[in-house]
Amino acid sequence: MNPCPCGEGFSSDKCRCTPTEKRTYFRKISGPFLDRFDMVLPVITNDYDTKKGESSSIIKERVCKNRNSFNKHINEVTISKNAMELLEGQLKNCHISMRGYERIRKVAKTICIMDGEDKVKATHMIEAMSYRNLDFLNEVILYD
Ligand SMILES: [Zn+2]
Repeated sequence: MNPCPCGEGFSSDKCRCTPTEKRTYFRKISGPFLDRFDMVLPVITNDYDTKKGESSSIIKERVCKNRNSFNKHINEVTISKNAMELLEGQLKNCHISMRGYERIRKVAKTICIMDGEDKVKATHMIEAMSYRNLDFLNEVILYD
C-alpha cells in the first residue's frame, strides 16, 4: 500500500505531500486492520537493473516449490527455545499484539522452510520480526 496520497512517501525527493496530508491519509487505516498484515515494511523505489536479478520464471518456480513444501511441513516445523524467547519478549514488552505474535510465528516458520530446515532458529525469528516493522509508519507520519 502507498504510504501517502501521492504514493512516493518513502522517497523524500519525490513526495509532494505535506505532513498533515500524510497523517490524514494514514488515520483512515485502523491499527487492527494494519495488524492483520503478515509483513509490514517500507519498499523504497529505485532504478533497479532487471538484467542483473533472477528472471520472473525462476522466482515463480522457487515460490511454487516452497508453497507446496510450506503446506506440507508447516505443522511439523518446531521453534527453538532461543527463537521462542525472542518472540515472547516482544509480546511481554507490548511491542506486538497476540495477532502479531501469531503472524510473526507463521512468517518465521515460512523462512525456516525456505531455508530447508525444520526448526525455527533465532535468525529466522529475527528476520520474521524485521518484516513486521510498524515503527517506520510512525516515522513517515510523525517525523516528516
Ligand atoms: Zn506523498
